[in-house]
Amino acid sequence: MNYKHVVVAGSGVLGSQIAFQTAFKGFNVCIYDINEEAIENAKKRIEGLKPIYKSDLGATEEELADTSHRIIYSADLSKAVADADLVIEAIPEVVNIKMKFYEELGKVAPDKTRFTTNSSTLLPSQFAEATGRPEKFLALHFANEIWKNNTAEIMKHEGTDSDIFNEVIEFAKAIGMVALPLYKEQPGYILNSLLVPLLDAAQMLLTKEVADVETIDKTWMIATGSPLGPFAILDIVGINTAYNITLAKAKATGDVQIEKVANLLKKEYIDKGKLGRSVGEGFYKY
Ligand code: NAD
Repeated sequence: MNYKHVVVAGSGVLGSQIAFQTAFKGFNVCIYDINEEAIENAKKRIEGLKPIYKSDLGATEEELADTSHRIIYSADLSKAVADADLVIEAIPEVVNIKMKFYEELGKVAPDKTRFTTNSSTLLPSQFAEATGRPEKFLALHFANEIWKNNTAEIMKHEGTDSDIFNEVIEFAKAIGMVALPLYKEQPGYILNSLLVPLLDAAQMLLTKEVADVETIDKTWMIATGSPLGPFAILDIVGINTAYNITLAKAKATGDVQIEKVANLLKKEYIDKGKLGRSVGEGFYKY
């Protein structure tokens, strides 16, 4: 099936980027969000992406105008999806919100419509039944700043139809993504399954005073040819996010070492305003 009409549900940080990128690549897109206020914000976000596409990708005025002409907006779910081939869900990472959304969507979308979720941490199997069409539902996970960090992790759950999985892979390529198929469900997809243990290990080495930040990063960079070490990556992620994840893990496991990592992040970095690259200082100065 060739997708022509794509609906992006939720027009926040990621939804607006997904909608813009999809329209930029020639698809007709309808942005669905909960009310008129959210739609007005969506319009601002879409306008805000234009100068970025111009500076980062060299997009022309004509391409940018064509992109926005391909985008329409709706706060009415049944109207938004009336002719949808694909719905890309990018609504808040809250189980109840997503569950209600899929129950409603399953009722109002035509039979042909495929559903994908951009969820970062929730597994598609959790919502598969609620969609009423588990075989046509899977994860299509983008990275922030989609126009340059153009990975698309495409993940099946057990009940996803293989043909639909392949269609979504083709769609991801058609909107300029590098398609990364996952044949089984995996919390954290590929990227975070690799990255989180690396970042955890680096923080553990630092907290145990085995080595300092620079030495740990240098070891990783020289030995693997990687341009960044784990602490430089943490500075990009942001120390607040790292702290929240570590604190949650410490509480869940009761592990004293992990708690020490959380305390270090709080005392030495967050309390001193060293929140990462976005503020000019984290583990490194920028
Ligand atoms: P966000 O908070 O920026 O945006 C959420 C949007 O959803 C808002 O526009 C809000 O009005 C809308 N919304 C709320 N309830 C809704 C409903 N019932 N129906 C339709 N729209 C509704 O969130 P975000 O950061 O764009 O994240 C959205 C999803 O994308 C989450 O599942 C998140 O895990 C995932 N994600 C986020 C990032 C990121 O870096 N922010 C990266 C990859 C994946």
